Amino acid sequence: MDLTQNVRAVQEKIAAAARAAGREPGEIALCAATKVQTDETIRAAIAAGIRLCGENRVQELTAHLGADAYAGAEVHFIGHLQTNKVKQVVGNVSLIHSVDSTRLLQAVELQADKLGIVQDILLEVNTAREESKGGCMPENLPALAEQAMKCPHVRLRGLMAIPPVSTLSGSNRKYFAQIRHFLVDIIGKIADNHSVVDCLSMGMSADYEDAIAEGATLVRVGTALFGARPPIHG
Ligand SMILES: *Cc1c(COP(=O)(O)O)cnc(C)c1O
Repeated sequence: MDLTQNVRAVQEKIAAAARAAGREPGEIALCAATKVQTDETIRAAIAAGIRLCGENRVQELTAHLGADAYAGAEVHFIGHLQTNKVKQVVGNVSLIHSVDSTRLLQAVELQADKLGIVQDILLEVNTAREESKGGCMPENLPALAEQAMKCPHVRLRGLMAIPPVSTLSGSNRKYFAQIRHFLVDIIGKIADNHSVVDCLSMGMSADYEDAIAEGATLVRVGTALFGARPPIHG
């Protein structure tokens, strides 16, 4: 595996997908999904041009932060977040992708207030209504967005979704399009027009080009950069 080559290849595919959709390549951020990777691999990815890392597990985030492994890059939290672990995340990452309940939103608000900061967040939506997945149900999204807009220490930046594992090329485009419509709806409902709510975090190794065609502004890519992970780590 050649990390430098993989980073370049993914960057080129992102740029090509953007142009094909009539978009500027610079509109799309590449977030390296670094779960199960070592400090060394993360440093190598940053040396190869990665400017944003996404962590799934609080324990890994804390360890990599302790080792200063993300130096030179921004860090986002992209995994499921338990309310009792917000202390380790709020203030340590520039964006939390996975706020999906009032309870979690309130815990993030409380911790950000304690720290005297404003935490940027995305709301995660369970677009395909999969039982096994995190994310709020689409019908609950407007109310959750409204609550987020009222939190003084939280800034709502957009939406994140993890559609079903795509088997066929193009099979997730309908979900990506739905997620974009959800964002447009939310923007339409937000009275306060000072907020920039424009982030669409969607698309992974198997389908990020389709996500870009449907408006993704941030793609989370692991396997295409780092190779396959051991199966237990999904
Ligand atoms: C692991 C992970 C990714 C990247 O998945 P790949 O298929 O390896 O690209 C993206 N988003 C989240 C939330 C993840 O946990």
